[in-house]
Amino acid sequence: MENTDYTGEDKPYTLNEEGLLALEEQVGAIPPSLRESYKVLEKYVSEKFIEIYGQYMTPEQREVFLSSRMIFVDREDLGPLLEYFEKANHVDREISPIDGVFYKGYSIGVPIGESGENTEGDATVLYSGRVTIHVVDEEFSVPVDIKFLMSEDTLSTKEALDAVYPRVNTTTQGSTFIHEKVHIMQDPRLPLPIREAAAYFYAREVFRVNNWRYSKVGNTDKLADLYEECISEIGEDLHRFMLGSMDDPEILEQLKAKFTNERIKEVSEYHEYEWDERTHNWIYWDTVSADEI
Ligand SMILES: [Zn+2]
Repeated sequence: MENTDYTGEDKPYTLNEEGLLALEEQVGAIPPSLRESYKVLEKYVSEKFIEIYGQYMTPEQREVFLSSRMIFVDREDLGPLLEYFEKANHVDREISPIDGVFYKGYSIGVPIGESGENTEGDATVLYSGRVTIHVVDEEFSVPVDIKFLMSEDTLSTKEALDAVYPRVNTTTQGSTFIHEKVHIMQDPRLPLPIREAAAYFYAREVFRVNNWRYSKVGNTDKLADLYEECISEIGEDLHRFMLGSMDDPEILEQLKAKFTNERIKEVSEYHEYEWDERTHNWIYWDTVSADEI
């Protein structure tokens, strides 16, 4: 991948449609025969998002959201891409930290249990400007189909049994599309836990409104709950602020007052003992003191 110009533009983080296709050609992990089904899914869930939240966005923002912006890659291709896209990281000493703490990244995993298995996960997702790169495991390169978004009881038993993997994969990737595309709209200088909470919330909400199966459980759900609390307190302007059509320092202050470091820690370590730890999805934040940024 050396000497590759992905964009033909000065700014790699505003990759255009052509650049995106060229990049996908080189590093795309989804087999070419399945790519069309992923694009159909991306378009479908994006339209459903716009039905609910498009009213808080500008026409240009809606257009960006509706266009194809997602590339799935294998883990081994991530390294060079990370290096490449690092150029687009945005940090602001005032906006980005929460009470002196800067959140650099995060991973999701489970604590090391008695069995000795597991660990914190590796960072698997990065996004940059108007393109989002998502890492997939090979086993998930299975078809997706929008009919599997519907709740199980709309499928015949045979259909449901025949399609366990496509079904799981469709709901997983469907929510991932919304999550990552929300990131594209956000001001990248905002504190990471707040951006993540919002992205998890919007994906969950689009699924809830459409009565689709949503399988995320655990701490990312708690993070989404915290954002939902902010919506009840701040109101609809929070959507405008988070989706990029409105700038308001007061809203940022209100958000930081809710997303304190203590509350983020509490939510990330949330635990219900009746749950299986392996499915619990703790959130591990990678932080540094704001002085170091
Ligand atoms: Zn995210």
